Order: sequence, then C-alpha cells, then structure tokens
Amino acid sequence: MAKYIPRLYCLDDLKETVTIDLAEQQAHYLRSVMRLKVENSVLVFNGRDGEWLAHIVVIDRKHCKLLLIKQTRPQMKGADIWLLFGPIKHGRIEYLIEKATELGVRRLYPVITDHTQVSRIKLDRLHAHAVEAAEQSERLDVPQVKQPIKLGDLLKTWNPERLIFMGDERCNAPSMHYVCQQNPSKSAAVLIGPEGGFSDQEFKHLKALSFVQPVSLGPRILRADTAALAMLSCWQSFCGDW
Ligand code: SAH
Repeated sequence: MAKYIPRLYCLDDLKETVTIDLAEQQAHYLRSVMRLKVENSVLVFNGRDGEWLAHIVVIDRKHCKLLLIKQTRPQMKGADIWLLFGPIKHGRIEYLIEKATELGVRRLYPVITDHTQVSRIKLDRLHAHAVEAAEQSERLDVPQVKQPIKLGDLLKTWNPERLIFMGDERCNAPSMHYVCQQNPSKSAAVLIGPEGGFSDQEFKHLKALSFVQPVSLGPRILRADTAALAMLSCWQSFCGDW
C-alpha cells in the first residue's frame, strides 16, 4: 500500500519553489503525531490553488517549513450546496459539521430560530472541525462557517434563485427525492429545524416563500443531524457531484 501522506490546509498562496511556515499546531502534528522528518512529504491545499506536494525543510517542536515541489491536483469547485441548521447540542454539532463537510457542503449557516436552545456557538471550533474533515476527505476547499443569523434576517436577504429545501416532518410535503428528480437544482440549500422543530409561525412564513420547498424524509421523525445528512445525501445523488 502507498505510504500515507498527511494533507494540511493552509492560508498561504501555493506556487512552485515557495516555502511556507506552518502553524505551531500543524508542526506539532507532523513531528510528534506523524513522526515526520526533514525531506518527508506533505500535501497542502488552500481552497484556491489546488493541492501541492511539499517537502519538509525544517521541523522542530514549534516550527515546520515546507518547500513546495509541484501541484498534484488543480483547484476544483465542488457542488453548490449550503446547509442552514438550527444549532444543536455540543457534540452533535461537531458531528454534523464533520459529516456535512465530507458530504461536500460549500457553506454552513447556523440559523437562530424560535426554538433554538443553544446560546453559544464556538465558530472557531466549528471551523477547526470543518478543516479537519476537509483534510481527511481529500477536499480541495474548506466550507465557510458563517456567523449565526436569525432565520427572519436570512430570509429577508436571500437570493431567490437558490432554492431552499426545508425539512418538514409535520404534514404531507412531497418527498425530497421526488422534488430533486423533478426539478434538479444546480445551487441549493437545505434547511433543518432545531431539536424542537420550527414554530408554527416559522412554518407559515417559510411555506409562503416562493424559494422555499418543504420536503419530507419519510414517516419517522429524525433528529436534526440525521435529517440534515439525509437531505444532503439525497441532493448530492440527484443534483450534485455523486
Ligand atoms: N417536531 C419535532 C422534531 C424536530 S426534528 C419536535 O417537536 O421535536 C428537527 C428537524 O429535522 C425538523 O425541524 C425538520 O427540519 C427535520 N426533520 C426531522 N424528521 C423529518 C422528516 N421525517 N422529514 C423532513 N424533515 C424532518
């Protein structure tokens, strides 16, 4: 089996013969966890310049300098799907971010709704989870984690050309796969409610909007994270890059 080459996300521009300094945490990971040494290989990506092979030229406890050798993959854009989610409890939210990143989400929006229970969202932690999942899943970009926004404010400024699939567990919404099949969308968002679901008022408001499509995921009530991942999988298989 080919030797595993660690993949790291960085912010620097990536070009031939350039050297880049990694963050202290990344230096620690390469040296103490992966036990890499000078001349060993690393792959790096920044979301703009594709993926690059690099060699370690300096490595100690706090620093690691890489020399970029050659581009191994050109930059590609993944499917144009966003996830709008009511923040859920600690532990589950990290799981959701990791899996949504693996499923190719481009943008992650924590949306504050009437029944939102979680008051503090640690965006830097969510970003760190997205980075780790992108590194591990061989993505060439990291999904953007947006500042939490109130549902009403988000809808007010929404570009109506991007359809929102709203997970609707209450009544007879058409199934998600039926809607995707009938009307394949190239850019979309999926919206799921928080653990307590949407309020009656929110339901009414959402259903009145032309760019919101309520969809069902079957007769069982799914937890918010399950519903989000089921909707993303469904969209990816009919409209995305699967
Ligand atoms: N009404 C609930 C359940 C909320 S589940 C309660 O009172 O607790 C959290 C979210 O997952 C919902 O807001 C909805 O967007 C989504 N969801 C769960 N099961 C679903 C289903 N069968 N079909 C569509 N969406 C679903």
